[in-house]
Parts: sequence; structure tokens; C-alpha cells
Amino acid sequence: MPQPPNLDTARAELRRLFGFPDFRGRQADVIERVLAGQSTLAVMPTGAGKSLTYQLPATMLGGTCVVISPLIALMHDQLRAARANGIRAATLTSADADWRETLDAFRSGSLDLLYVAPERASQPSFRELLGSARLALFAVDEAHCVSEWGHDFRPDYRQLRPLMDAFADVPRLALTATADAHTRADILAQLGIPADGLVVAGFDRPNIRYAIRARDSLPRQLARLCDDHPGPGIVYAPTRRKVEQLAEQLAEATGRPVLPYHAGLPPETRAANQAAFVASEDMVIVATIAFGMGIDKPDVRFVAHAATPKSIEAYYQETGRAGRDGDPAVALMLWGAGDFAQARMRIAEVEPERQQGERQRLDSLAGLVETPGCRRAVLLRHFGESPPENCGNCDNCLDPPAMIDVTQLSRKVLSAAYRTGQSFGFGHLQKVLTGVEDERVRAKGHEQLSVFGIVSPEEAPLLQPVVRALQVRGLLAQTEHGGLRLAGDVREILSGTATVAITKPPARQRGRSRRNGAAPNPVGDPLFDALRELRRTLASEAGVPPYVVFHDAALRAMAADRPASLSEMSQIPGVGAKKLEAYGKAFLKAIADN
Ligand code: ADP
Ligand code: ZN
Repeated sequence: MPQPPNLDTARAELRRLFGFPDFRGRQADVIERVLAGQSTLAVMPTGAGKSLTYQLPATMLGGTCVVISPLIALMHDQLRAARANGIRAATLTSADADWRETLDAFRSGSLDLLYVAPERASQPSFRELLGSARLALFAVDEAHCVSEWGHDFRPDYRQLRPLMDAFADVPRLALTATADAHTRADILAQLGIPADGLVVAGFDRPNIRYAIRARDSLPRQLARLCDDHPGPGIVYAPTRRKVEQLAEQLAEATGRPVLPYHAGLPPETRAANQAAFVASEDMVIVATIAFGMGIDKPDVRFVAHAATPKSIEAYYQETGRAGRDGDPAVALMLWGAGDFAQARMRIAEVEPERQQGERQRLDSLAGLVETPGCRRAVLLRHFGESPPENCGNCDNCLDPPAMIDVTQLSRKVLSAAYRTGQSFGFGHLQKVLTGVEDERVRAKGHEQLSVFGIVSPEEAPLLQPVVRALQVRGLLAQTEHGGLRLAGDVREILSGTATVAITKPPARQRGRSRRNGAAPNPVGDPLFDALRELRRTLASEAGVPPYVVFHDAALRAMAADRPASLSEMSQIPGVGAKKLEAYGKAFLKAIADN
């Protein structure tokens, strides 16, 4: 009997087909199991390279790997990328015109991958079809959809178990990026995978640089981010109106292509804007959180939040769309005290039994925003990992903030809010505390209060951050008319049993700096630019996005190493056999000419 293929053969195939030097993270563990015919649930974060764990074995094992995937758009992305690497792949969806060819190819055993949606997979006719050829593997993508515990339950996923049971000797590989233990256990049970088949990769996305700042001037802060990162970016905004407004402001301020995306746009416009973004190398899309699900664009260089996300889970998922190709990427959150104030008001409106949970969610998020320590450590601890204290790639690790004790100042603020009747906003309190005697102050008699003028000019710049910190902690809340009132347990602070410390606010940066970490691509390198230009031409001829031809990292390596022959070119990471054949000569010529 022939030996089943082993990991060494797989590594050789990885180099030949994909041009990657080695496996990443826990890919090797998953692939080893798959090649040995063991059913597996792989939990790996977005961008870890889940698809490769079935695509590669599919080319090595006899028979076809059936991939169940929930979204047609996602399937077609995968199909393009697989075919570009010379993998024999096809989809069976309502959007396909080549059914006959696909069925013939499947039956004759000349397909590596067959993608279908769960609705189709659960039909009797599909089961019959599967009986007509040899199967290598079932790969179930977005496997958390099978669990009611997951955030995205789809009843059709429940029909996959009977289908797979009908082909009991075909191994199963379930894939998901979902985090929680409960859902994992449920997926194993629902899909009939033994408990020892669980492979969990870490949640860290080391190439993403996390940065969280208070919002002072949104358009200016975002324009600076856009200037520092010329590649594609996503800006999440809280409302449709804000999306429209920011898209306009950013286009104006940066001169870059900027498009809006939200549920209020006609479906054609939405689809067109999304397609334009996927194909672009420099577009910024300003979007509500409706955008992102089912988008598989590897070269997104930044994700910005123009307001706080809903929770740490949402933040992790949304920022996870940056840097899937492993190149440096940035996640910038710009927050305001109002975001937290509004979120706390909304909690008061949900059913009482959900309030506690919602409050915890918000407190965790506040903890991430307020921490003077490593952001990544807070995130990973939230997902149950034990990360090192410092990651070296977040704002706080790169530029550790100094802490200042503001307990005294907090007391002054709280007592000013109290003594003025808990109905005035920040501006008025600031005047009272710093001793500005204007008409309104006099009309209310506030210049007579003991808190009038008790804040020194040195302390005055800290007032805003202190009020922000008190709001984040829920100690100051907004009244209906924009006033500030005491909330939560302020006694601890007034009596001195609890302290308040804030991170020292950075000196306001003037203009736009280049400080945000240099873009990874060599700016102004004529060879790199020429290679990009060539990639653009080849991509548009083939009707695919540029990253399907080559990722930026491959172009960068070409510009640095200047391969002069096809065999030197084949050493560049990301240049597999198929791409070498299709594009090698053209890129060699461009290198020789520049
Ligand atoms: P996921 O489905 O886990 O979100 P993908 O399968 O889309 O991730 O892979 C993310 C990116 O990582 C892809 O662009 C893929 O080409 C790349 N990739 C996968 N495996 C490797 C590897 N071993 N070495 C280098 N790049 C890889
Ligand atoms: Zn860090």
C-alpha cells in the first residue's frame, strides 16, 4: 500500500504551489491530521491562513475536497485565489453558468476543491452527486454557524452532519475564528468530530499595531492616518450620516479615493463600492459595521474606529480585517466620552436581565481604552490567553504613557457638578472651576460657590481628560439636556478611599506627522512602483484584484532581491509554480528594465 502523504511532502508542495517557505502558526498540526485522515476542528484567528489547511491537502489526497461555505461572494474570492495557484477548483452556486463542466470534472475525479453553500449541500440531489465520485475531505468553513451558541447560527448547517455521516470514512475539517469554549464544544458535537480533534491557534495578530486615542478632531486625526498609510483602509463610523460626512471630508483632506458604505445606499451602489474597494490598492472606505462580513481582502493596511465599537469582541473582529496578508497594519480607535455616556444610557433601556451583562461588556471595553499598559495584553487576556506584559507593537508599549494621579482634581469636578445643581455641561463647569466670571456664571451666582476658581492654570488642561475618565467610569453621566450629573459610587472618591489616575495626555500634535510608523512599502522606489504598475495591468487583464496576482510582500521581495532568472524568481515567497509560469517572465523583464 502506498504511504499516505506526510508533512514533509506537504511542505514541499507548499513551496511549489504557494511559494511559501513554511507553515504558519498551527497550520502544520492541522494539515498533519488531515493527511492522516483524522477529523479536526481548527480554531484560528482571521488571517491565520485557514483556507490553506484544506486547499493544500486537497491537492495531495486522491479525490475531491468538498468545501461548505456560507457566502457566495466569499466562495468566488476563494475560487479565484485557488485557481491563481493552479488548484483545480469550482463552485456550484446559483451564480454559476458552468454547472455541466463542474459536474463532469467532479465525476471524472479532476477537481481538487468543490465549493457549495450549506443550503445546497443539504439537498438529497447533492448527496447523490457525492456518491458518484471519490471524496478526499469535507471542509466546513465558518463552522460556528452550526452552533446556537455562536453569534451566527444557520439551521442549514445542522443538515451537514447527516450528509457527512453518509460518507463516514471521509475525514472532516471544521474551521472557525470564533473564540469561546462553549461554542467549540458544541461544534465538535454537532459535526461529529472527536474532542481530541480540536486545534486552537493563538488569537494574537502580531502584525496589527493597536492604537487608541481620545478624539479631538476626527477629520484631522483620520487624515493623518490616511497620510501615514497609503494602502487600502476601512474607517468605521457609527451612523449613516457620519459615514457620508466623513467620506466627503476625507476625500477632500487626503485627495485619496474614498467611498461610503452603509445600509441606506441602494444595493447596486453598495455592491459597486465594495467591489471597487476590493480591487483597489489605495482606497479608503468609510462604512457602518454592516461592511466587512464576507470580505476577504488581504491587503487592508488600516482599520479605524471613528467611535467606540460595541464590545471587545466586536473590536477584535473589526480590527481583524486589517493585515490578513501578514504585512504591518494599524488599528486606530478614536473615542470620546460621549460614546461611553450614550452606551450607558442605552443599557438603561434594555431588559433588566440583560443589563448586568451589557454593563460588563462596556466595562471591559473601558478597561481597554483606559489602560496605560499593553493593549494586546488586555485583548488576549480577554480571550483567555496569558500574553506577555509587553508586545512592543501597540501605542502604549511603543510610547509608554506617564500616569498622573487626578484624585484631587476629580473631587473638585464632582463637587462643582454637585454644587451647581447637576445640570450644567462641561463648558460651564470649566468656567466655574477656573474662575471665569461671565454673565451666565454671575446670573446663577456661581462665582459665590466654594468651588469657584479652585482649579489652577496648571491643572486646567487636565479638566477635559478628567471629565472623560469620570464619564468612562460611569461616575459622571449626561443629563437629557447635556448637563453632567453624579452617577455610580462617587462617595469612594469624595471620601478618599479610591483614587483616580489618568494617562498623561499627549501634547497636541500640530499638522500631520509621519510618526505613525512608516508604511511598509518602499515609498518612491521606482522598481517597486514599476512592479505595482505591471501587477495592476495583469490584474485588470485577468479581471481579478491585484492581490490575486501577487501580494505586496512578494513585490517587495522582488524589488529587494532583483531576481534575474526564473529559478531565482521561484525563490521569492509567494511565487508558486503556477504564478511563476503565468507572470514570471513579465516581472523579470520589468526588473531588468528598471
Ligand atoms: P483566514 O481564512 O484564516 O482568515 P486566509 O486563509 O484567508 O486566512 O489566509 C490569509 C492570508 O495568509 C492569505 O493571503 C494567505 O495567502 C496567507 N498565508 C496562508 N498561509 C501562509 C503561509 N504558510 N505563509 C505565508 N502566507 C500564508
Ligand atoms: Zn503592547
